[in-house]
Amino acid sequence: MPELPEVETVRRTLQSLVVGKKIEKVEVHYEKIIANETKEAFQKKLVGEVIREIHRKGKWLIFELDHYDLLSHLRMEGKYFLKTNQEPLSKHEHVVFCLDYPQELRYHDTRKFGRMYLFEKGLCMTCEPLQELGYEPWDENLTDSNLYKLLQKKKVPIKTSLLDQSVIAGIGNIYADEILFLSHIHPLKFSFQLTKKDCQRIIGATQKILYQAIEMGGTTIRSYESAQGVHGRFQQHLLVHNQTKCPVCQKDIERITVGGRSTYFCPNCQKR
Ligand SMILES: [Zn+2]
Repeated sequence: MPELPEVETVRRTLQSLVVGKKIEKVEVHYEKIIANETKEAFQKKLVGEVIREIHRKGKWLIFELDHYDLLSHLRMEGKYFLKTNQEPLSKHEHVVFCLDYPQELRYHDTRKFGRMYLFEKGLCMTCEPLQELGYEPWDENLTDSNLYKLLQKKKVPIKTSLLDQSVIAGIGNIYADEILFLSHIHPLKFSFQLTKKDCQRIIGATQKILYQAIEMGGTTIRSYESAQGVHGRFQQHLLVHNQTKCPVCQKDIERITVGGRSTYFCPNCQKR
């Protein structure tokens, strides 16, 4: 699943490719991807809109148009490709935005789990699905005391809270393992047991890891690709996720399941 750094890479790539382009026509070939509009309304409303800016909130891409905000979540396998109308449509290309002729921005999704929402401009931040998202990793309000207060209410392992998008938005499974390793925190430690100092370490590690990952274009675990088929290099730099030996103490990395998710940690560096 693309995580925040991959989505940020897609955002930056799309930003350089499609900002300023006008949507001439939209073709929806798989209606369920459009979550809050009918296929007909979605296709009709977007005609003539210019893509002004592309933002990101958590793992959501937000295409800012003239009158609307178009939200797109890639879920497991969603990708965008910029092609020309000469290229045959693949059976996995479910939404086609025809831009300035002959360019087309195509949304490709082999598993069809991705979703798009269309909101009137300015309303999306206060509506589902964005309103329930927690802090952005670089939000100035993400402080040790605010995180501590939030985690005091969570009676689940810290690994589960890190994946909870209403706490910090955009952390996925791979990065949660890396963040806990850098913070020296056992993934099964209960969230409410964390100290303010632990919270401070988590915030520092989150910012450091996500920043590095964005600089490297994200990971390529599973079949993630960004708009131009950019491949991330961050997977070569993973410290604990999917690894066998701890890079710090050389002890064997353990793999357990937390909240149904594969979790890697060093039992020596991350004592419970
Ligand atoms: Zn270790």
